[in-house]
Amino acid sequence: MNLTLVRIMAPKNRLLIGILLFIPCFLSGWELLEAQERGARPAQAQARETILLRPARVFDGQSAQLHEGWAVLVEGDFISAVGPESGLTIPRGAQVVDLPGLTLLPGLIEGHAHLLLHPYDETPWTDQVLLESLGERTARGVVHAERSLMAGITTLRDLGTEGAGFADIGLKAAIEKGVIPGPRLIVTGKAIVATGSYNPKGAPEWDFPKGAEEADGYDDLVRVTRDQIGRGADWVKIYADYRWGPDGTAQPTFTEAELRTVVEVAESSGRWVVAHATTPEAIRRSVEAGIKTIEHGDGGDRATFRLMADRGVALCPTLGAGEAYAMYGGWRKGVDPDPARVVGKKESFRLALEEGVPMCFGGDVGVFDHGDNVWELELMVDYGMATIDALRSATSVNARIFGLDDRLGEVREGYLADLIAVEGDPTEDISALRQVRMVMKGGQIYKR
Ligand SMILES: [Zn+2]
Repeated sequence: MNLTLVRIMAPKNRLLIGILLFIPCFLSGWELLEAQERGARPAQAQARETILLRPARVFDGQSAQLHEGWAVLVEGDFISAVGPESGLTIPRGAQVVDLPGLTLLPGLIEGHAHLLLHPYDETPWTDQVLLESLGERTARGVVHAERSLMAGITTLRDLGTEGAGFADIGLKAAIEKGVIPGPRLIVTGKAIVATGSYNPKGAPEWDFPKGAEEADGYDDLVRVTRDQIGRGADWVKIYADYRWGPDGTAQPTFTEAELRTVVEVAESSGRWVVAHATTPEAIRRSVEAGIKTIEHGDGGDRATFRLMADRGVALCPTLGAGEAYAMYGGWRKGVDPDPARVVGKKESFRLALEEGVPMCFGGDVGVFDHGDNVWELELMVDYGMATIDALRSATSVNARIFGLDDRLGEVREGYLADLIAVEGDPTEDISALRQVRMVMKGGQIYKR
């Protein structure tokens, strides 16, 4: 039993798991150790203060109608009651946190980040991968994790260390142990690419270290997938296409059978697979293979988006990365006309919306500044998404896409107390999410 999972389970599930784990004949030595450690937690939870949050209004993660005058009671890691304050039973000695004028909402769930990368206009990607030491990159990751949390990101899916080994798994452990502040992390480790497809590349006689792990064919993909899982990957990331066409265009990398192999191995371990895919063919192969989320999807057409919608496969459109690349290439937004890549992206995003593809909030942050995650939401609205849908995407929808919707993504009794408070009304103006005044994760206040 994964201890992290136990920690973030709803109380009733934890009780059930607890009973099962305490049946001695079922316990291995390792599980016994975990059970002992967990046994210490209720005492910690009791020692922690009960907190009553009093915002001006609450966005619950779903309803377009804000709840005026609601209060939220937090006990230990969890929300114990929500509603009009007059209807709540408030324990004596509860700490009252007044949040006048602020909107309280679920902590944001970032769907596509790289904590081990920093903006490419500071240092090109290739130089980060080849020239920056693991120590430097990890130190940067520590700073990025804190910046993300302070920006209201309480859960973050990191989609590959890009040459920094399994440093994401170390960052996750350090956050869980309370060594450094940061969001709850969903990590993928090195990620998987097809031999010959990925960068860095140079003179053909040299073997350059790659930004991800190469693997091909049935046996190799089975071994590498299992190895990454064994080292701590929560999801498996695979690059279903890449810019390795004869003229530098994106072309599929893995065959559908290869993708299916990775999905089969990952899913039998209880994990899902996420694919980088920009071409219609790579998206199609990924969906047919059983992949859960498609990253980028720039070249998607109506048929592939319809297929995604039919199968319930989500799209992380990474609009922020698209605009960042264009700006690093010299585009002056608001001065110059949109470059072809931005025009194309707006068009494909519109098609995906029209086809009803589940939309994941995920900007590929790392390509641009950590802590600027909300830029992606502003672009989603700018490109045609309803503001309320963008808000849902960053809360309840991402919780559902990532299988966390029994404990995260809503302001609801029994859910984890991952909550933020912002100035203004984000259902009217999504940029209100930039004015984060309070961040709570698991009942602990990190920013106020
Ligand atoms: Zn990415």
